Amino acid sequence: MIINHDTLRDFAGRLVAAGGSSATEIGIVADHLVEANLRGHDSHGVGMLVAYVRDFEAGTLKPNQQPEIVSDTGTISVWDAHAGYGQVIARQAVEWAIGAAKTHGVAVNGLRNAHHIGRVGTYGEIAARAGMVSLHFVNVASGPPPVAPHRGKEGRFLTNPVCIAIPPTGNNPPILLDFATSRVAMGKVRVAHNAGKPMIDGALLDHDGRATTDPGVMYDEPGRRGVVLPFGEHKGSGLALICELLAGAIVGSPSVATMTPPERGIINGMLSIVIDPARLNNQDAMLAGIDEMVAWVKSAAPADPDLPVLIAGEPEQIARAERMANGIYVDETTWGQLAEIAQRYQIPVPN
Ligand code: NAD
Repeated sequence: MIINHDTLRDFAGRLVAAGGSSATEIGIVADHLVEANLRGHDSHGVGMLVAYVRDFEAGTLKPNQQPEIVSDTGTISVWDAHAGYGQVIARQAVEWAIGAAKTHGVAVNGLRNAHHIGRVGTYGEIAARAGMVSLHFVNVASGPPPVAPHRGKEGRFLTNPVCIAIPPTGNNPPILLDFATSRVAMGKVRVAHNAGKPMIDGALLDHDGRATTDPGVMYDEPGRRGVVLPFGEHKGSGLALICELLAGAIVGSPSVATMTPPERGIINGMLSIVIDPARLNNQDAMLAGIDEMVAWVKSAAPADPDLPVLIAGEPEQIARAERMANGIYVDETTWGQLAEIAQRYQIPVPN
């Protein structure tokens, strides 16, 4: 299925609306999901609606939730999303932090109990577009953990993403480093499994701890499932633990060690640190320094002439331009699942 982004946004919005969301919530969630598809992250695109519908039907995703402000010192706040749509409440929390950082130079927000916040780069980009530097550490509590610690063959983490974002300069778009601490995001295993494609080497172990490219090992019966490896061996494994601690125990959001029941849906905690870089350096000098560094990195001769050196955020810009022009590919299994939900709610399925 290749589908135009506007049609897909409209269809995604109708599926969100089935849960009773307000028009604003429908717009934010549908836009976030389709933007993830446009940026090439189908793992966090409209395919997530299968889980969202499951969760609002089960009551583990609560549409139209208002965040509870647990504490607010002006520079540090803690919010509890009470299982509301992460796309809506994480955005509000980061917008709060941007405002506070503009006033005080730096702001920290701890977000607890958000239902899936989606593509974390969204929040880094919002802060970067407001001229802020930001760091976001996320933990995930949702069912059995699929990611093994370094040297392990049993899952102990979910995919605990990190995002660090640097403002645009006028010459360069925001630098957006945004990745799961697993070798691959779990959604990418789902997409490969749905499409019947193998995974890249070095991403999976089967139940016996043997390397495999078969995404099916993650969908075996419980007790026989394989694991996803952390990226970068002990370094990624260490960062996964830090995400878990910063966004879990330290922020006060559920952790994978204490909360894995599937009946709680997909819960993210997030620690966001937003810094106004104008408090650190002269603005013009900083922007010139960023441009200089980007040009320096990109001036490295490519090892393979067909694969140019890119800056974090660039692959997503390239994907977006291509998908805006040519449409978004949605695999058959995902489309079938979405169509089945749409039929249940008497929502017309685009063809
Ligand atoms: P990925 O492996 O594609 O890595 C993405 C990062 O690497 C981006 O910053 C990208 O610009 C950069 N990058 C990719 N190729 C590059 C290249 N050739 N040169 C330079 N930089 C390059 O992403 P991922 O780990 O699969 O994560 C995908 C998405 O999933 C992210 O947006 C993440 O936030 C999201 N995620 C969310 C959750 C959650 O629970 N909410 C959990 C895990 C992942």
